Amino acid sequence: MPEGKIIKALSGFYYVESQGEVFQCRARGNFRKKKITPLVGDTVNFEAENYSDGYILGLKDRFNKLVRPPISNVEQAILVFSAMEPKFSTLLLNRFLVHIEANDIEPIVCISKIDLLKREHQQEINQFINDYRKLGYTVLQTSIFMEELIEEVRPWLDGKISVFAGQSGVGKSSLLNALKPDLNLETNKISSHLGRGKHTTRHVELIKIGTGLVADTPGFSSLDFTEVTSEQLSDCFPEMRSRASQCKFRGCTHSTEPNCAVLDAVEAGEIADYRYKDYLSFLEEIKQQKRRY
Ligand code: GDP
Ligand code: ZN
Repeated sequence: MPEGKIIKALSGFYYVESQGEVFQCRARGNFRKKKITPLVGDTVNFEAENYSDGYILGLKDRFNKLVRPPISNVEQAILVFSAMEPKFSTLLLNRFLVHIEANDIEPIVCISKIDLLKREHQQEINQFINDYRKLGYTVLQTSIFMEELIEEVRPWLDGKISVFAGQSGVGKSSLLNALKPDLNLETNKISSHLGRGKHTTRHVELIKIGTGLVADTPGFSSLDFTEVTSEQLSDCFPEMRSRASQCKFRGCTHSTEPNCAVLDAVEAGEIADYRYKDYLSFLEEIKQQKRRY
């Protein structure tokens, strides 16, 4: 039985890509009984006698599932952060990284609009790039006006399902258009807050770029910490995750406990202050949230 991937869901139809061809399929009734809804990103078994009358017969297990956009099996998030306009923010980047780590997704940080960077800010950005690379993150620099930088993004997309994420106006749609010119995504739309309202009514589709699949709708529009517990938070910081086993207390929150390996590393300057400060403010936010519910 052929296997494929759902690349689009629309009006009860699922579009399954298999060996370079796309089949319009419906889900058999047994899905409805089991209350499983196929999702874009699912690997499925299907049968189809022609391109428009196929049936999905089975789903492979998913390794994750995003709510917004609704996609499964997302392996990678391209975090787009502009160097300028809006100015690069480590606080927002750290927040995105926590969400992405919590979902077991590999982040690729893209610092966009590098052409707008003035000389006096170059050094500051280089320092951040070094810091994040030291943590093990892949950091790329992009500009839609520099073809060679766009080409450097391409190989990272190959063979994977990726979603783009980042604040509104950082250049996500422009970057996708630069990677795939026939896409013609609308750019420069005014939207108030982290892309909300901009993409909510659209369906989601996976677009082929090279041998990779990329969601045409950005992910992680809601960045509150409802799915992260205070115990899990430090696992989402690689520099804490690697030290936590040396803390004296199990379940150490690395804030006030004695003999804390993380606090020692902060004091020794081995963990960047701005990362630790953000960790503490996220921790506080999670505690406040718990109180509210
Ligand atoms: P999105 O909201 O993240 O999808 O951002 P858009 O792709 O709509 O881009 C927002 C604005 O930034 C638009 O006016 C783009 O022309 C501009 N922009 C995007 N990428 C670049 C870039 O690399 N350099 C410069 N100078 N402007 C860019
Ligand atoms: Zn600790």
